[in-house]
Amino acid sequence: MSQTKHSTATTAVYGSDEMVRPAPTMTIPDEMTTPEIAYRMVKDETYVQTQPRLNLATFVTTYMDEYATKLMNEAIAMNFIDQTEYPRVAVMAARCINIIANLWHTPEKGDSKSGATAVGSSEACMLAGVSHWLRWRKRRAKEGKDNTRPNIVISTGMQVVWEKFAQLWQVELRQVPLTREKRTLCAKDAVAMCDENTICVVAIAGVTWTGLNDDVEALDKELEAFNKSKGYDIPIHVDAASGGFILPFVSPDVRWDFRVKGVASISTSGHKFGLVYPGLGWVVWRDKSMLPEEMSFSVNYLGAEVTQVGLNFSRPAAQILGQYYNFIRLGKEGYTKVQSNSMAIARYCHERIGAMKCFENYSKDVVNPLFVWSLSEEWQKTAKWTLYDLQASLQQSGWMVPAYSLPKSIEDIVVMRIVVRQGMSRDMADMLIGDIERSVAELDALKYPTPSREAYEKSAKQLGKVYTH
Ligand SMILES: *Cc1c(COP(=O)(O)O)cnc(C)c1O
Repeated sequence: MSQTKHSTATTAVYGSDEMVRPAPTMTIPDEMTTPEIAYRMVKDETYVQTQPRLNLATFVTTYMDEYATKLMNEAIAMNFIDQTEYPRVAVMAARCINIIANLWHTPEKGDSKSGATAVGSSEACMLAGVSHWLRWRKRRAKEGKDNTRPNIVISTGMQVVWEKFAQLWQVELRQVPLTREKRTLCAKDAVAMCDENTICVVAIAGVTWTGLNDDVEALDKELEAFNKSKGYDIPIHVDAASGGFILPFVSPDVRWDFRVKGVASISTSGHKFGLVYPGLGWVVWRDKSMLPEEMSFSVNYLGAEVTQVGLNFSRPAAQILGQYYNFIRLGKEGYTKVQSNSMAIARYCHERIGAMKCFENYSKDVVNPLFVWSLSEEWQKTAKWTLYDLQASLQQSGWMVPAYSLPKSIEDIVVMRIVVRQGMSRDMADMLIGDIERSVAELDALKYPTPSREAYEKSAKQLGKVYTH
């Protein structure tokens, strides 16, 4: 290789030494290079990835209009915490919290609802979890009772953040199994796991694994009776990462939010169906009494008194501008139209996929713009392929459609999932269905089982189900 020379403004990007050297993986390069070369090296590294819009695995926004994008790009250097310099960002965040709290029918009066901005639902769930843990600790201490063994109750359909919460704060995680019959949280089973050490029960609006909603009203009914009989006050948190921005617009009559008395807090992802680029989350408490004082930190930062509830200090402000922009730009009308379109596309795909002999939808209802399906019984018995093979085949046409097994106790069910987000048109859905049909025809024509099918048959045999073809 030629001797290293400094690249100059006239160096052709692909005529530079950098382009024939391995990319830095362990140590920082000794010398500078031009911005064009650095840009190309980083950009080119991303080319092998799926096109974000064809990624039907993610819930996170991959399309915003040009003005939103411009607004956010212009705010790229803004730090949310820097309130002396950017005081209006905090004002807009508080407005967003008010708007979201009202969308969720908060009973709290006044023009400053109790809530917080987060980097995503994960941080929002953490904050809600911590608030219930602190409330429970205080209450137990006041009663002179042991407060060292907290637990939290949630279904096995939970997102991994709850495992993190339990692990990091050393709270026992009590998981209500989902089964073939109980496809969402069973209220009775959940309450049966509660005791004096339960800090809260979590219901999920938009279960990540299946797209279904836990029945918050049913849970509230069971829990209220239990609380009354025992003298407890176990609250409900609703993890509405997806549902928080779907239900208010497409199913306004479903009671899952603060209209349900026992709901003490709700979290959502602004960057999922809030329609903002990552990362943004929100958490709202029923009222101030649910948000322990110890969680608000006041600091004097660069001359401004900043009161903040959150795990991070510095964080990007652009997402907050994006969220506030969306509220103004779309309004209730626009959110309803966008989400209804996503629902319509999801239902259309659900119907087309359900009509294929090789597939079976997991649920006949589509209540959020996502759904899962599995192989039909006949194909499960005789096919020479699995959904993992279909995933790999679709990837060749650029689609990312994930296959995975459902959580504990129904882990033998392998499903495939499609999340329909803003940016997926009927035309794209038709292309996808066409690609699925083509892939299935190819897989059905195989003479020998794929390695993934062989592995499946081996494990099925061990489980005592003998599938052969
Ligand atoms: C996505 C999701 C989360 C985590 O949200 P992030 O915004 O990715 O941090 C938590 N709970 C549920 C139900 C989710 O779907």
